[in-house]
Amino acid sequence: MKDNNCIFCKIANGEIPSRTIEENELFRVVLDVAPATKGHALILPKEHCRNLFDLPEETGAEVMKMAQKIALKMKDKLHCDGVNLVQNNEEPAGQTVFHFHMHVIPRYVDDGQTIGWKPAQLTAEEMDAVAEQLK
Ligand code: 5GP
Ligand code: ZN
Repeated sequence: MKDNNCIFCKIANGEIPSRTIEENELFRVVLDVAPATKGHALILPKEHCRNLFDLPEETGAEVMKMAQKIALKMKDKLHCDGVNLVQNNEEPAGQTVFHFHMHVIPRYVDDGQTIGWKPAQLTAEEMDAVAEQLK
């Protein structure tokens, strides 16, 4: 299903031009318009879904295959020194466009980017409790 108000639906289905670097029947992979590094790409499913919470399981499995293909291509063609996969779900997690996408970010020695978090201060009891909750 396509959402007529969704910009990534339009990009994924070719209604809005993009710098496409890969395409198959499930996905279009495009360069991010505001890249973190040279080659920063987005894997966009052609079917609309908001994020990981409603992504069909089979599409999820295929996303990882595509991510690996793109990462290998970046290593081969851009000679990057590493790759980050980043995938944000819902606003508190940093999602700004509400059509599932996986960032594939090539990393270069001294590229000046930081992608990370500071450790939360949890007690051993809190860690035990959350481990129980998640079992
Ligand atoms: P999020 O924060 O939702 O994980 O990432 C959204 C990403 O989409 C951002 O990195 C942003 O630069 C990118 N983006 C937003 N609008 C467009 C667009 O129209 N075209 C492309 N190629 N990327 C976009
Ligand atoms: Zn969409």
